Amino acid sequence: MVRVRRFTLGFTLGSSLKAGLGAIFGSLEKRLLGAVLLIVACTCALQVISQDRAYKLRVESEELREAATNTEHAEQLVKLVAQFRLATHLYLSPASASETSSSEAGRADGEMTDVAIRIGEQINALRASGMELYGLQQDIAVLADIDQHVATIAEVRANPTSGRAERSAIDERNAQMASLAAAIEAKASADRDGAYDQLSRSSDNWQMLVVGAGTVTIAFALLILIDLLRNILPALRRMHVALRRLAQGDLDFEVGDFRLRELKALSGSLETFRRNAQAVKNLAFTDPSTGLPNRRAFIERTAQKLAGGDGESFLVMLGDIDRFKHVNDDYGHAVGDRLVKLIGERMGALLGDQAIVARTGGDEFAICVPLAGRAAATLGTDLVTAMRDPFDLDDYTVAISVSLGLVETKGVEAGGAHAEPDVNALINQADLALYAAKNGGRNRATRFTADLEEERELSRALERDLALALDEGQLRMVYQPIHSMTGGEDEVEALVRWQHPLLGEISPARFIPAAERSGLMVQLGYWIVQRALDDLSRWPHLSMSINLSPLQLQQEGFVGFLMDCCRSHAITPQRVILEVTESLSIERNTRALMTLNLLRNAGFRIALDDFGTGYSSLCMMKTFKFDRLKLDRSLITDLGKDPTSQAVFDAAVTMALRIGAEVVAEGISDEGLVDPVRSAGCTHVQGYHYSRPIEAEAVDGYYEAGPTADRKSDRKVA
Ligand code: C2E
Ligand code: MG
Ligand code: MG
Repeated sequence: MVRVRRFTLGFTLGSSLKAGLGAIFGSLEKRLLGAVLLIVACTCALQVISQDRAYKLRVESEELREAATNTEHAEQLVKLVAQFRLATHLYLSPASASETSSSEAGRADGEMTDVAIRIGEQINALRASGMELYGLQQDIAVLADIDQHVATIAEVRANPTSGRAERSAIDERNAQMASLAAAIEAKASADRDGAYDQLSRSSDNWQMLVVGAGTVTIAFALLILIDLLRNILPALRRMHVALRRLAQGDLDFEVGDFRLRELKALSGSLETFRRNAQAVKNLAFTDPSTGLPNRRAFIERTAQKLAGGDGESFLVMLGDIDRFKHVNDDYGHAVGDRLVKLIGERMGALLGDQAIVARTGGDEFAICVPLAGRAAATLGTDLVTAMRDPFDLDDYTVAISVSLGLVETKGVEAGGAHAEPDVNALINQADLALYAAKNGGRNRATRFTADLEEERELSRALERDLALALDEGQLRMVYQPIHSMTGGEDEVEALVRWQHPLLGEISPARFIPAAERSGLMVQLGYWIVQRALDDLSRWPHLSMSINLSPLQLQQEGFVGFLMDCCRSHAITPQRVILEVTESLSIERNTRALMTLNLLRNAGFRIALDDFGTGYSSLCMMKTFKFDRLKLDRSLITDLGKDPTSQAVFDAAVTMALRIGAEVVAEGISDEGLVDPVRSAGCTHVQGYHYSRPIEAEAVDGYYEAGPTADRKSDRKVA
């Protein structure tokens, strides 16, 4: 029990000592303060000890000096007493007493007296120095009363009767004096030796104390230095490294643990800051709905991957879900988001761990994958194929397709003098390839080529120059006749032309999309309508087809503008056929659909142009009752050569006729196409076989030339 208590007590003491030490040594401030205080205390102690010892040494030196003086006096005393004895002896010797004259006797007496006086002086000096004389065995009076002794000696000499006994007494007294002087000298010497010993002991002590205190101070200073070098400075250095990494935006590390309380507190705050910054960074680098990296993260990670790629081949791809808007419109955005997530997951699963799959826009993905010996085109096609499998979204099964733009690149060679990989440039190139994939019919992977870049440059130049073209009259309208197979009215289609001062004539198929992209389409559309109707007002016997861009149909006030234009040119809307293309998905565009209905109600006829090139033609037919279908050239080119083309063409014509629409066969470029088109039942024909587009001033002449139905143009062509 007692042992247990002792143990508990020991443990408690141990832990409280540890806690106490921890409180002191765990704090940088206390540690440094304690160290400084310790050094100050040691220095003060050294100072106090030095002062005290210096004082004592001074006292002891003084004592030694006095003891030495006393010793000199004592030695002098011994010598004087010996002289005195000799002088006494001479003075009292019988020869001296008998032979000497009174003057000699006087000299001996004088010498003795003189020595006696000097003995008295030495005694006084010894007494004055405070030397302990009375402690001697012999009575000091033996020396102190020397004047009486001298008187006694003089009496004995003067008294011839004095006998042997008196002389013996004098000798004995002299002997006592000699013995006392010797004792005094011995004592003085002993005192001097004692004082000397004391002084040397004290100085030794002083030296030891100074060395001891100095050693302790130096030991403390060294301990502090070691602590500083081994514990404090490395901790500060670690903290500095952590701060520097944070300042550089590097968040992929842990600030770590610090034992010093101040650094511990700071490291805690820094770690919290780092985690928060990391979370913010993650948010800034992650697409929230799919959890995939976003565009920024893609650029950063791809740059890192390429930088460490060591000459390896990589494929950068931009992917776009074809007609994703339809998915959103049909199933809602929540389903759209889930679909995008599943697409991203499928892409990741197919391409493997080494691939970076990022969502860079609503329906846009960016991918970077090491080729690892595979062909870029094969990888792209595999990905496109894999995306065609329907996606299971619990309530729905959705099938989509994707278009991909591919660009190959190489990782930076290790040790090579390569510039930083320009991921943005790669994305731009992949984007061009993606654009080409979309234009090429979607659902495919297209590789980047230098031509695409030139194409993009050109279309940018077109966008730039188009505004000027409008102002400077570089645009004009030409007209291509459309012939009725049933003896109906004469017609022309208005087609715009751009005579670029440097590039020559540019096809509307190129600059109309450029106008749509640059926002100039509406302005251009107004100009076209005005110009065309202006010309039509001079041809009262003709009808005219005018092509409309989908953007014009969405333009506010377009119906009113068209009506006003017709009215001001005295043209009835029935003479105007408005052509819209399949690229306009009116079934999803309520505004465009409304505009078409308004126009139709106002009397304009509406034609669906380029029928057979898109996917939604049939849908459009259901949504809106078109007055006319213009079958695309691609449906006609192979007629007569290929039975399948004929079957498709026949079906399209039959369908159009069944819904009561006129059918125009576009692109009749040679005689051989006329019969198949006629026998299929087309109501109108248009093509180079009849006439190329002609200048406005040639239109009247063209129609004046006579019957038109099956005639090739020999008029001025545009
Ligand atoms: P589109 O409306 O289908 O016009 C027919 C295009 O086919 C015209 O090309 C015409 O010159 C061409 N073409 C006619 N017959 C033949 C033929 O026998 N063989 C061949 N190879 N081509 C033939 P163009 O004038 O270059 O116009 C191209 C497209 O640009 C037009 O196709 C139309 O979509 C658009 N476009 C033209 N003018 C305008 C316009 O004023 N406004 C709008 N919005 N689009 C226009
Ligand atoms: Mg047309
Ligand atoms: Mg067409």
